[in-house]
Parts: sequence; C-alpha cells; structure tokens
Amino acid sequence: MKFQYEGPVSPIKTDLKRYRRRLESVYKGLFTKEQIYRVEEAEENLLHRGNFAVADDEAPPGQFGVNLRIQGGLAVDWNGELISYDEHGNQAPQGRVITMPQLRFRKLTAKERKFEEWFHPPYLETYVHEYNHFIAYVLQLFPMNLAYHILDMVNAGTVQDIKPAEWFNLMKSSVRFHLYHLNELFTERLEDLVISEMGYEAFPYHTVDSLKGDQQKAGRYLKETVYSFDVSEFIEIFENWIALRFSQGDELWEKDFAEFFHNYVDSTQKIEVVKAKEL
Ligand SMILES: [Zn+2]
Repeated sequence: MKFQYEGPVSPIKTDLKRYRRRLESVYKGLFTKEQIYRVEEAEENLLHRGNFAVADDEAPPGQFGVNLRIQGGLAVDWNGELISYDEHGNQAPQGRVITMPQLRFRKLTAKERKFEEWFHPPYLETYVHEYNHFIAYVLQLFPMNLAYHILDMVNAGTVQDIKPAEWFNLMKSSVRFHLYHLNELFTERLEDLVISEMGYEAFPYHTVDSLKGDQQKAGRYLKETVYSFDVSEFIEIFENWIALRFSQGDELWEKDFAEFFHNYVDSTQKIEVVKAKEL
C-alpha cells in the first residue's frame, strides 16, 4: 500500500515517511488480501496530485469528499426509491454517476499540534481518518459517502396529496442524518483499530458524541450498532454496508422511516457508480 499524499502540507509527508511501513502491516492484518489488492489498484489508478487539495483555515484538519457528475437526473420518490431519468425527463432503468475522490488537509495550528502529540504523532490520525474514507469509497460498490451526498442534490419526488411535503422532507433529511453519521462511525471505528494497533491512543471522541436531544439518541444507537460487531464482521460490513438492516418498529426506527431508509439504500445500489481519476 502506498498511503500517498501529494498535497502541499509537508509535515504529513514527513509523518508518512516514518510510519508508512507500520501502517501497511496494520491494514494488511485487518483487511483480506483481495481488499488490499483493490485498494492498491485504486491508489495506482485514482490518486494523483489533483485529488489532494488544501482545506481552508476554517475547515476541520482533514476532509474527504467525492466530486461527482450525474448523467441525466436523479430523484427520490415518496417510497424512498431513488429513481433515475434521462436528459428528456423519461424514467431510465438505471442511472450513472461519475465520481472522483478528493482528500483535503490543512496545516495544524500550534495548539492542535500540541494536543495531538499527547496521543500520537500529530498528523497520523487525521491522515488515517481521511484515508479510511478513501478505502471505504474504494471497497464499497456504492459508497455510503455518495449515498448521502446524492441526497443533497436530488430533486424531491412527485407531489402526491396523501403525504405532505414536510413528511417527505423529514424522511429525506433523516436518511441523510443516519447515513452521514453511520459513515463517520465506520471510519472512526477503523481509525480506533488502526491507531491502537500502531501502539498509540486513538482520540476518545466520536462524531455522534456532540449530538443533542433526539439526535443524540439516534446517534448513540448507530454507534452501538457499529461497535457491536467483532473485528472481522466489522471489516465485512465496512465493505458490504448495504447488508446493514435496522429493525422496524422499535422506538427509534418507526416502520415508515425504516421502510423509506431501506428502500432508498436498496435502490441507490442500482445506480452505476464510475470511480474515475477525473470528472
Ligand atoms: Zn470523516
């Protein structure tokens, strides 16, 4: 594995030079040979200077994003199904999305550096976190990251009288909330595993820990779910996240929402995702 960094933040390069080999052996101990092969292939084919950008000062230390181009259009209908249509507005049997990964880092402030050094080499965890997003993007046939990102871009479904628009918007933003936090938790659990295997202490925070009220409840439930698997089960579900099912009818997953969520997740998988070097 290469663990590339081709951006301008030079301390990342220094840290990677030092830790690349240990990182490689840790990842090779966690993932299967086939998965490692796919990541190595993607490092070769997808990562180049153009994928590494600088985050601005206001942004978190690192960010992973997916730039995308949708061919035709996409919409979510009232049952939570993601539907695709061609340039004439006719429903198409399958859509196509072209994507390109992007990793952004910025230089840590003196205060952040000092704080990080308490736990591990300053740039190690930020890099591992963003790289885990990249690995998820590579291994997942339909990346979870893309599944919520698309929701920000799709049009609302056709208006029907039966259900008010607020209901639809609530469902849509709730699906986005769950996918976003699930995606972060997947990355964070892998980060915990990697950093501790490296012999350091991982940050004790998780994205969901800062949530409040009802969102906090939902976030805790997601965290419990992600941390309930043993390591090999987790690695399997990390790739095949679509297999993750939430029980309908419990306090947090009302039947309507569970149906909408699973319909959305299942139907996104029908859209073809092209992972490309450029858009
Ligand atoms: Zn993240």
